[in-house]
Amino acid sequence: MTDSFPAFRIGHGFDLHRLEPLPPDGGGRPLIVGGVRLAHDLGVVSHSDGDALYHAVTDALLGAIAAPDIGRLFPDTDPAYEALDSIVFLEEAVHRVELAGYLILNLDTTVILQRPKLGDARETIRKNLADALAISIECVNVKATTHEKVDAIGEGRAIAVHAVVILQRRPDALPG
Ligand code: MG
Repeated sequence: MTDSFPAFRIGHGFDLHRLEPLPPDGGGRPLIVGGVRLAHDLGVVSHSDGDALYHAVTDALLGAIAAPDIGRLFPDTDPAYEALDSIVFLEEAVHRVELAGYLILNLDTTVILQRPKLGDARETIRKNLADALAISIECVNVKATTHEKVDAIGEGRAIAVHAVVILQRRPDALPG
């Protein structure tokens, strides 16, 4: 029998959203990454606000504690989540990690986006993630890369994000 309450747990999250022209008559979803709206001539296709970074981090946290994934917890058929700020999903995942008896040690992420560059937004995004996870900004990394102009992401038709977290069992946590 293996340990069902290990000292460390690792989680990985991935998300991808299509990018499409914003409707000329308004509406549509602006491109939001890690809680920061990026100036772009394309919008994101999503039921919620389409923050792929928050979604990937949410799934990394849920994955680490073997909880149902973001799509099962927050179905995109539920009108309650329409256009919702994705910080709500992330906060729920952080809450579940706490309930499971774990601390978040660090987070590493990679945003794959052909354009625009994250630029100055990167530090704001790091701070948003550090605040949401209640960890030091030194323990949050936001890397960015293009997709070398190939495939859907490289052609500017999508954004994708990978996220990895590691959790440590709280010293005072009891199994079950
Ligand atoms: Mg998503």
